[in-house]
Amino acid sequence: MSFPGYGEDAPLDLSGLTDAGLQAVTSRLLDGTFDAFAETAAAVKNCARPVRLTGRSHTFELGTRRGHLAAVGEHLDSFHSEHAPLGVLYRPCGNRRADVCPSCSRTYARDTFAMIDAGLSGGKTVSATVAENPLLFATLTAPSFGSHIHRHDKAGKPCRPDNRDKGARCPHGRPYACPKVHAADEAVVGAPFCEDCQDWTTAVVWQWWAPELWRRTTIELKRALAKHLDVPESRLKERASVQFVKVAEYQTRGMVHFHALLRLDGTDGPGSPAPLDGIKLAELLQKAVRKVRFDAPPIDYDGVTRRLSWGRQLDIRIIRDGDRTDDPDAVLTPGQVAGYLAKYASKDVSSVRLEDTTRPHLARMTSTCHDLAETASEFYNGLCEPNPYHLIRKWSHMLGFRGHFSTKSRRYSITLGRLRRARVRYQQMVADARRNGESLEEISTAELEARLLGEEDETTLVIGEWAYQGTGWTNPGDEALALAAAARAREYDQWKSQTKNTNQPMRGTK
Ligand SMILES: [Zn+2]
Ligand SMILES: [Zn+2]
Ligand SMILES: [Zn+2]
Repeated sequence: MSFPGYGEDAPLDLSGLTDAGLQAVTSRLLDGTFDAFAETAAAVKNCARPVRLTGRSHTFELGTRRGHLAAVGEHLDSFHSEHAPLGVLYRPCGNRRADVCPSCSRTYARDTFAMIDAGLSGGKTVSATVAENPLLFATLTAPSFGSHIHRHDKAGKPCRPDNRDKGARCPHGRPYACPKVHAADEAVVGAPFCEDCQDWTTAVVWQWWAPELWRRTTIELKRALAKHLDVPESRLKERASVQFVKVAEYQTRGMVHFHALLRLDGTDGPGSPAPLDGIKLAELLQKAVRKVRFDAPPIDYDGVTRRLSWGRQLDIRIIRDGDRTDDPDAVLTPGQVAGYLAKYASKDVSSVRLEDTTRPHLARMTSTCHDLAETASEFYNGLCEPNPYHLIRKWSHMLGFRGHFSTKSRRYSITLGRLRRARVRYQQMVADARRNGESLEEISTAELEARLLGEEDETTLVIGEWAYQGTGWTNPGDEALALAAAARAREYDQWKSQTKNTNQPMRGTK
């Protein structure tokens, strides 16, 4: 079976190519620089906004004395940007967000998947026995801030809320119900039924403190665990530890919710037998989440202290109960969960924005952030203590959320940085092997992993002087081609993973 339309001769989908783009592509073909462009695009894996650099670098062999400034040895290689195919060095932008760079965000998602998966199943320096430890998948949400919201229901149901009488109206005389069936891309989806009932300020304040709620949740869970195991909190790590990875995802109403994987380890850290099972852990987590409170400081003199907590909607699933048999009723497999999380990690608030119109409620949240920053700067003016909200303007495009999109506890698994370093090392190994006429095929997987992921010091030193020239392709034709090629690569990957997941051969295909 082969990928439809894939191969050397397969045409790219260039339906989005503008006249200017077409002209640019034509002139590359005419002046003979097309191959140089193609080589450059391949080297940056069709990054949408590569960084352009000029300069040079030299590679030296390093002395081997550990912990000391190693002596610089033999000069191995040098590189000048003038010798790059287009005369300038192009580097991938490395952006996490799929809407900024489809290609780099896929690399990011792949690394994130590998990082999450290593903590689930072991491998990549993580003990394989982690696969036997209890594992939970929890979704924590924001509460409601007043009015009901318009929903997009896939089943085509009208967006009436279920816990109100028909015909009931809010204090502003607006109905609590809406008879319409909304499409997912309607601007009203996620908006409150009544703008005046909605407590916009509290919504934004909640978002601002969401990372603090999560922090308190992990503390509360540790406390509960210590109590359950009957040890003082300070000695909990002698018995158990909870490792997690979590990602934030925006809902259409503009609030983030958190998806978290939590693994319970035992006395000897990652992969050692846990002192309790997944069912008990889920119970403790449920209680911890319900117990968490945070009193958000007031914004100004007349301000109120807001007591923040998680929303009522809480979903905790036991992915593995730790009895070494997977729960037959579990809907999710560890691999699926890792896939979801990796996908969420490459999105942000732009995933709930619309392409040509704005959702008015998101604009309202942004302006609420601005108002809050304004009030904050007036309130604490002249006092030495900074107002806790004074930086919220900086995060208004994130609707007040200032946390990271994916975070992990220290001992969950390998770091993304180490995975990135392994990729660089691999490219270097391939280049070295090519130069020396060697083959990498004789190296075993275990040996390769040890060399790529090992902690030992680098054996070469690269010294470079680089000047930033700009970001992005230099003409609309290059950009369109890179985007089309990245889209094609994505389709190919999807096709490949579907083929892998289909056990039975499809009828009528070879
Ligand atoms: Zn990129
Ligand atoms: Zn509606
Ligand atoms: Zn109202």
